[in-house]
Amino acid sequence: MNRREFVGTIAGGVALSCIGAGSAFGAVRGSDPNSARQQGAWIDDGLIDAGGTHEPYLFVVRRGGQSLNARQEYEQAQSEEVIRTLKGQGIEVFHTHLYKGFGMAAEMPEMEDTVRVAEIVHRLGMKIDTYVQWDSMMYETFFAEEGRAQEWYQRDAYGQPIMLEYGYQQSFRYLPCFSNQEYLEYLKKVLRFAVNKVKTDFIHFDNFTVSAEPYSCHCSACKMGFRKYLRSKYSSAMRRSRFGFENVDYVNPPLWNADNRPEKMKVISDPVFQEWVDYRCQTMADALGQMADLIHTLNPEVVIEINYGGVVGYNSPWIRGTDPARLLPRTQVFWDESDKKPELLPDGRLITSIRTYKMARTYRNVVLSYISVSEAAMAECLAFNQTIGFAGVSPLSADMVKYIAFYRRNREFYVGAEEVAPVAVLRSYASITYSNASAGLSAILFEQSLIQARVPFRLIFDEHLADLSPSNCKVLVLPNAECLSDEQVAAVRQYVEKGGGLVATEQTGFYDSWRRSRVEPGLKDLLGHQVPTSTGRHREGQSIAAGKTSRMEHGRGRAAYIPSIEFDGAQPADQPYFTIGTEFWKRPRNWEALIDAVTWAAGSELPVSISGPEVLAANLMEQVEKRRRIIHLVNVDVERTASIKNIEIRCAVAEGRTPAAVRLYAPDSEGGQPIDFHVKGAQAVFSVPTMAAYAVVVVSW
Ligand SMILES: [Zn+2]
Repeated sequence: MNRREFVGTIAGGVALSCIGAGSAFGAVRGSDPNSARQQGAWIDDGLIDAGGTHEPYLFVVRRGGQSLNARQEYEQAQSEEVIRTLKGQGIEVFHTHLYKGFGMAAEMPEMEDTVRVAEIVHRLGMKIDTYVQWDSMMYETFFAEEGRAQEWYQRDAYGQPIMLEYGYQQSFRYLPCFSNQEYLEYLKKVLRFAVNKVKTDFIHFDNFTVSAEPYSCHCSACKMGFRKYLRSKYSSAMRRSRFGFENVDYVNPPLWNADNRPEKMKVISDPVFQEWVDYRCQTMADALGQMADLIHTLNPEVVIEINYGGVVGYNSPWIRGTDPARLLPRTQVFWDESDKKPELLPDGRLITSIRTYKMARTYRNVVLSYISVSEAAMAECLAFNQTIGFAGVSPLSADMVKYIAFYRRNREFYVGAEEVAPVAVLRSYASITYSNASAGLSAILFEQSLIQARVPFRLIFDEHLADLSPSNCKVLVLPNAECLSDEQVAAVRQYVEKGGGLVATEQTGFYDSWRRSRVEPGLKDLLGHQVPTSTGRHREGQSIAAGKTSRMEHGRGRAAYIPSIEFDGAQPADQPYFTIGTEFWKRPRNWEALIDAVTWAAGSELPVSISGPEVLAANLMEQVEKRRRIIHLVNVDVERTASIKNIEIRCAVAEGRTPAAVRLYAPDSEGGQPIDFHVKGAQAVFSVPTMAAYAVVVVSW
């Protein structure tokens, strides 16, 4: 029985609210777990990827500082010996170099190496993951091959080439311009080689980003493209409404000077700046779309991955030209290189990649990250990514091999599992992009509260609001979602009227999606009196303390308002571009009030409750066809807290069913052990006696 049939066979809002919300967001291409994947369907069986080197020898030499045996290292990294070793350790996909950006002529000898390596990989029954550089054009060789390429690179406002920054400047790496169709056509030649000659199974686009202001491209293709975009996006009447005038023939990308630095701009309210952010994001999405369309035509089995980054507090549309909502529907996998191992710091900050994994699950993507840095990272990955992703570079660590073996042994618990997440947190594009210092911080802090209270939740994005209903989401959280369009305000109101629970904070609904101040807050009728915080430009000077938490019932629904999310302790200094880095990742002082509001808004019990210390994180999954729910427990600080004991758990099973068995699985033991439980209503109530870094509890009915 698939998800849709299951939903159709049970009746009543309570029953529906207990199931996963996986089917809720079918409108998003690629995010509906019931729909067959259009691209790279094999990824649904999980991903165990390792290398190999992704650097061609040519690059190692041009970069400089290499070892005198660099050539031997390059050959060894892609040798049959290494590939066989990885296969023996459970690796299923071998990662290696293909194209770095020097131009195909210069790189051809090493691209031919990849063809030979792919033959070995396939002969051994594995798949191959090939590196393709998105964001580099090594002009010294590229221009020699293709004279027209001198028109293809990004230029700053002074006409200077924009370069890819790595450590200190690698000034031989120009950035290609993604508004330039001729460059995109060139990149397609690389992809044809990858699919047709290498017979790749997986394309990794590295450095999927553009640069932060002031280093955005001012080339003629970008200026003309921007103006054309504005003309096609808006009617003349709408341009007048947007800019005050209709003729955009002389509109330019933003300019900056010594006194007006982009990294100091807190709120983006200038409509041309907002549209420029949108244009850069759309240009990247369109370029990816062209590549994805081509790859699909050549081979719909090839997995597409971008090294895009995670949900780690930076304002990605503003500083990188990347909007996940436009990119991840076209990918099956993305990289997050933020390299932060999970841990609980002495000052109470909990560092975690859970947000990134949740975003990936919303768009049905798998995350690749450096999980081999710690056992806690491996555990967190299996729990929230539901597969291994990137195991590292040969030789693999003993812990990594152990986790791969555990995953392969118990793969049936992961493949096809879906989140049971009755709480949805909206990451509003306009709110966070135009005011990351405020709305971005609120989102991080609310998510931190949910993570540390082990409330099962998912991240949603603007396009998901229209599909929201009490049947797929019990509680919608709007963490200072300042900018909501009229349509979004109407969708939220309708959701509550139908019986949904809403928790909104701070300035939610104060602005429209262009960040124009509403005369009355958009959700005033649901939330009552809202008090502006200091970022409300037109209402500065009022005290947050004047605000009161409110709870109101509206027909069958409920709405709670919390006037502030209080940072616990002195707020860290502002970072460039107001990035909400790990300095801010601390459970807020009033976290209990936030969680109480969520619990109240849910209207009935949440499907799982798990006791335990702050270092315990949890994820709730289910496999309806296999009649079981799966609780993943992670000790995020296993290096300092070796074990957690007596974790009390209550877990509901499907409506109308009775729990039949509870079993515990862990990487250090073979098979599963039964756990005593008793039944209370439709819930299994039990205690996990002890766990180290990771445990999986399977509750069957
Ligand atoms: Zn350009």
